[in-house]
Amino acid sequence: MKVAYVTTELKPFVKEGGLADVSASLPMALRKIGVDVFILLPYYKRIARTGFSLIERYPIYESVVETGEGVKPFSVFKGKLPDSDIEVFFFMNREFFGRSGIYTNPLNGIGYEDNDRRFGFFSKCVVNFLLYFAECDFIHCNDYQTSMIPAFISFSGRKIPTMLTIHNLGYQGIFEKPIMDFLKIHTSLYYPMSPFEYYGKVNFLKVGILFSRVITTVSKTYAREILKDDELGCGLRDILLTREKDFYGIINGVDYSVWNPEKDAFIPYNYSIKNLSGKYKNKEVLLKEFGFENPDLKKPLISMIGRLVDQKGFDLVLKVLPLLRERGVYFIILGTGLKKYHREFKDLEREFRDFFKIRLIFDEKLAHLIEAGSDMFLMPSLYEPCGLNQMYSLRYGTVPIVRNTGGLADTVEEFNIETGMGTGFLFDRYTTQDFLSSIERALFVYGKKKMWKKLMVNGMLKDFSWENSAKKYLELYLKYGNK
Ligand code: ADP
Repeated sequence: MKVAYVTTELKPFVKEGGLADVSASLPMALRKIGVDVFILLPYYKRIARTGFSLIERYPIYESVVETGEGVKPFSVFKGKLPDSDIEVFFFMNREFFGRSGIYTNPLNGIGYEDNDRRFGFFSKCVVNFLLYFAECDFIHCNDYQTSMIPAFISFSGRKIPTMLTIHNLGYQGIFEKPIMDFLKIHTSLYYPMSPFEYYGKVNFLKVGILFSRVITTVSKTYAREILKDDELGCGLRDILLTREKDFYGIINGVDYSVWNPEKDAFIPYNYSIKNLSGKYKNKEVLLKEFGFENPDLKKPLISMIGRLVDQKGFDLVLKVLPLLRERGVYFIILGTGLKKYHREFKDLEREFRDFFKIRLIFDEKLAHLIEAGSDMFLMPSLYEPCGLNQMYSLRYGTVPIVRNTGGLADTVEEFNIETGMGTGFLFDRYTTQDFLSSIERALFVYGKKKMWKKLMVNGMLKDFSWENSAKKYLELYLKYGNK
């Protein structure tokens, strides 16, 4: 089984979000269970500059694709995913990828105007490469950026099976109609309700959903939610429903070679279930790092890491935060995102500086220290396709308090005081009251030292390694592959 894994982010070459981690970890896990997988990625200027060595300095393949603006060239360079024997094929075209950003212009934070042409072009190049140069038995696409590939494969008449994984239905790639001309998709295919038409525009993700042989998303509960709930379905619910029998939820895994308190190179004190003392030392380092001079280590430390966007529930946090003052806690946040949140949290920091601090940066090392040094971790997301931080928290003995949605619901179990079972605290309704009450349940258990330790250990014993999920992907490749 040879799988072409097509993505637009890949750790360690280029990372914007969780997709970069998944794109490295899943192929590695697939490789371990015997799947021959290679990765295809645009050769962004940022990668070319990092000096990652390519296997060969010259392109291994050069070709052109036809567009509505004439014939455009591309070259493919061969590299390797570090610490593996997985080949990575980088697709180079200066016009579309020879710029400093990935999806957005770093100078103004606005998405590039020609993202439709950039990723549509990339998709055409990938199809050309897979048809004429690198054979494969399955094409695995990710998100809207690679969603046109299944349609192009279908036009080619070749019956190579395709999978589309949706990492977040909130990002669909909705563009104006002229992209059809650029991609040379015949206008006869564009009519009301056709796969290419979406309220007078073109929706890449819709195309992918309709042309892929199989579709997945990144947790079972999120899969159910987007089929059931209009709001979470983000305008594609009906389209997804037409593909319900070929639609699956597979939870993302954790890379425990990176996220493991016993070996984590980013934290000052390693620790394990057998000896948790390092965790408390990390707590002190963390509190001081955030500017709490003489911290009271008995007080619980609550933390959050994430993109400061509405999806992550920061409006609820803004409301709950002032109510925590009387509860004798420390509260820290690490994140960047919408300017409104930057402003409002900075205001709160001034008002509540005795217990609340925020860092408005992206800092991977600090993220590890926060996971290691905190007592509780909040994820009150409005929706959450999978979420990674709650799984990291569990392994680090940091108790997650999460909304009962998507991947959060699939990975955290409510702690039961009577049985001592469970790994965290969940709340259902997206309200200040429900959120606060879940924090209060956590604070209550925190006050009972033995019970709290049991809760921490329950979480640390959970195993969300990639192996299980990789097996599920393999099952689907086999089920939907050409026999
Ligand atoms: P999403 O992909 O929706 O952003 P996830 O929880 O799936 O959310 O993954 C986010 C990843 O990015 C996690 O690994 C998290 O630790 C990391 N991250 C987010 N914001 C920051 C930040 N400001 N500094 C360091 N790491 C961050």
